[in-house]
Amino acid sequence: MFDDLEVDVATNYFIILTRACNLKCKYCGEDATFEPPPIDLAYPLTDLVTFLAKDPSEITIQFYGGEPLLKIPLLEQIMDAIPNVRHWSIQTNAVFLHKLHPPYLQRLSAILASIDGRPHVNDANRGQGNYQKVLNNCSYVLSHGFSGDLIARMTVSEVADIYEEVVHLVSLKRPKFSHIHWQLDSQWDDRPENRWKDFLGWIDKSYNPGISRLVKWWLSFLREGIVQRLVPFIALMYSLLTNKPSALRCGAGLDSFAINPDGQISVCPISPEFSFSIVGHITSHSPEAIRNSLHVTAPCPSCAEYPVCGGRCLFINYTKLWGEKYYAKVCGTVKHLINSLRQIAPEVQQLIADGILSLDDFNYPQYNNGCEIIP
Ligand code: SF4
Ligand code: SF4
Repeated sequence: MFDDLEVDVATNYFIILTRACNLKCKYCGEDATFEPPPIDLAYPLTDLVTFLAKDPSEITIQFYGGEPLLKIPLLEQIMDAIPNVRHWSIQTNAVFLHKLHPPYLQRLSAILASIDGRPHVNDANRGQGNYQKVLNNCSYVLSHGFSGDLIARMTVSEVADIYEEVVHLVSLKRPKFSHIHWQLDSQWDDRPENRWKDFLGWIDKSYNPGISRLVKWWLSFLREGIVQRLVPFIALMYSLLTNKPSALRCGAGLDSFAINPDGQISVCPISPEFSFSIVGHITSHSPEAIRNSLHVTAPCPSCAEYPVCGGRCLFINYTKLWGEKYYAKVCGTVKHLINSLRQIAPEVQQLIADGILSLDDFNYPQYNNGCEIIP
């Protein structure tokens, strides 16, 4: 089906600097006591350097946790120790972002800062005062030499109105986020009742209508030649405009892997405790041996939207922790999103033909920066 897929010659590695975190966000599954030990890095850095030196492809590294900025000296040591990394990036709650020394800050190509939208929505999940702290620290990095991609990375939960949260983040002036990305708080744990009162109702009454409204809002700017940098929209629109099929967009198991604190390599940073996810160890496997080692399974390959969706999330495809009904409901959100964008694609095509927009405006991301694309 995907014979014409372009083979990516880059590999992304998430390096888990620690499983510990300084926050206790309501939806986060990152519990250092739940996941396999060790909490902190237990392999010598030379093992990591030796493993990565064997990778002939272009390497991108994203620091991940827990909260990676709890380990700033280690982060800096790794940046000094590993040569030839094409892009460094970090996924962080941003609370300690101001503590990263400017020479290292300036070498980052992307910062994914967790923020969920309006202050009351963000702070309901991430703790009182967190919203302002994130804004302050993101503004700080912009005034201290960070010139890369500052991505607002939202987690969308029941208190969120997707339209209001996204439009709010776009409207901010200080800091001005370069991109907005989001992911649904769904299927990470054993059952929806843990955090949701009515997940299915929220999808029907809030999320899907909010996406429709957001697409209309987005189109009104496109008509003016302005591409609001909403990651799921721009990346999917690029696929619709170019008609190129996509592999799993996060790259998990294909060309993206997580190196856990014990040196085990998992296909994705959130699944080290699931045996399906472990594909090797930095001392016993080569980058070549783990590449393309795990692929999405049913129902994705036979889904009509597979060429555009790519399978959404390998972890959820394998675990289906909430069962088939909820899996299908989330797929419904993917189909709704793709269809909403598909409806406006001819007009976008025309705007490009008229020179109001350029196809290149939608060509994002150009490397794996940790945005999964499909929420
Ligand atoms: S919409 Fe659902 S079933 Fe279809 S490819 Fe995406 S994740 Fe798989
Ligand atoms: S989308 Fe799913 S499989 Fe991919 S990195 Fe995120 S959690 Fe892992």
